[in-house]
Amino acid sequence: MTEQISQKHPRGLYVLFFAEMWERFSYYGMRAILLLFLLDKIRGGMGLQASEGAAIYGLYTASVYLLTLPGGWLADNVFGQKKAIWYGGIVIMLGHIILAIPGGTAIFFLGLAVVAMGTGLLKPNISSIVGELYPEGGARRDAAFSIFYMGINLGSVLGITIVGYLGQKINWHMGFGAAAVGMLLGLIVFRYGSNKYLRGYGEVPPAKVVTPEEAVKAGSERKLGYGLVALLVVFLAVLQLTNTINMTTAQGLAQGAGVIIVTVSLFYFLFILIAGGLTTVEKKRVGVLIVFFLAAAIFWSGFEQAGTSLQIFAERYTERTFGGWEMPSSWFQNFNGTFILIFAPIMASLWIFLSSKGINPSTPVKFALALILVGAGFFIMEMGAKVAVTGQLASPLFLTFTYMIHTIGELCLSPVGLSSYTKLAPKRYVSQLMGIWFVAASLGNLIAGLFAGGFDEENLEQMPGLFNQVTLFSIGFGLLLLIFWKPVKKWMGGIS
Ligand code: GLN
Repeated sequence: MTEQISQKHPRGLYVLFFAEMWERFSYYGMRAILLLFLLDKIRGGMGLQASEGAAIYGLYTASVYLLTLPGGWLADNVFGQKKAIWYGGIVIMLGHIILAIPGGTAIFFLGLAVVAMGTGLLKPNISSIVGELYPEGGARRDAAFSIFYMGINLGSVLGITIVGYLGQKINWHMGFGAAAVGMLLGLIVFRYGSNKYLRGYGEVPPAKVVTPEEAVKAGSERKLGYGLVALLVVFLAVLQLTNTINMTTAQGLAQGAGVIIVTVSLFYFLFILIAGGLTTVEKKRVGVLIVFFLAAAIFWSGFEQAGTSLQIFAERYTERTFGGWEMPSSWFQNFNGTFILIFAPIMASLWIFLSSKGINPSTPVKFALALILVGAGFFIMEMGAKVAVTGQLASPLFLTFTYMIHTIGELCLSPVGLSSYTKLAPKRYVSQLMGIWFVAASLGNLIAGLFAGGFDEENLEQMPGLFNQVTLFSIGFGLLLLIFWKPVKKWMGGIS
């Protein structure tokens, strides 16, 4: 670790940067063509209806973020972060290889499940080693996370460009194969780089010694957990039997998953509030975390439509032939990563500048802004959809501006969100609550999938109204947060 002293950032950061860049290459690359493949009827895709395809997309992306919970736990308690990243990467690559096989539906779903499991194992742990490299925290750690976020988006742009092109212009399975190659490159970087530059970080955890009191406590928590599972099973059975949700369809399964995610998160928050032995200040902070959870879930449910309704809009209703050349519709998803690469440094300097003037907006205000921006983006989409319903192709500018506004929203919420979760969480619950932050993303992805179910070709005229609903909901919640930002900030108890 001696080389770190003479350098601004330890070399280990760049190992993690490139490993995550390739992992995100495979994740966003595959994700860009996933729904297109599920809906395609003529190029060897699955030929599903939008409602079914989008629900599968939602279930898949929601599982990815939900599986970060067991992934984080396994690293903390069994493998250590480094091994979890290595195994996770191998599992992801295998998943993409399975997707690259032009087999039937069952093989394809197996591939998706394998990629989701691998990502759950890799994703949370690679970020925790970034944090571990800077035990002192502070500005250097924040800078490291910004650099790391660049790696994420560089990977996403490269992945969507290459996987999107191969998948849409040549063959779907070749696209999925390219994702596997990307992950292989990530594994090679990680293998060589981590042996050299990440010694002593993310190692196998020592066996935990459990005191008798801890064992009793764990026992009663386990019983509570079983109780909750039993309750959920009964509740879902009632929903199924009363035909409220039909879990034999993909859409019904996604709705069922939504019920599970909402109930478990609610009980988790209630549990730590009631039985977590918290002081009043800590309880108020958990209250703030609940507000941020809701805001983040609503934000992602709009934002993550990048892969669902906005992708359908790009494919079917957007002008994308330029000078005789037709751009692959998945490339529109590149606007997010590209705008991040442009705006992230600008926004970071803006916050620093505003801080120096003493007017840096507080976290609840930034969250509110993010929600208003996501809603504003959908207002632009509503205008675009109004053009599309007339039978004309909409200008690519609609999607371009929407992505730009959504990306600025992401920069208001995503980087501050995780860090405020770690700061506001009562000490004993930090890693669990970090997991809950990803659960908000999971829920958002699920809703983004369910929502796009309305985008069937037959329902074209409903499109402006659907986009309008997202605008009203996001801006409504954003304004509410903007009105109440002061009490929320007060409940944060001195933490900004
Ligand atoms: N785009 C970021 C990433 O892939 C954040 C995604 C999220 O937290 N939902 O890491």
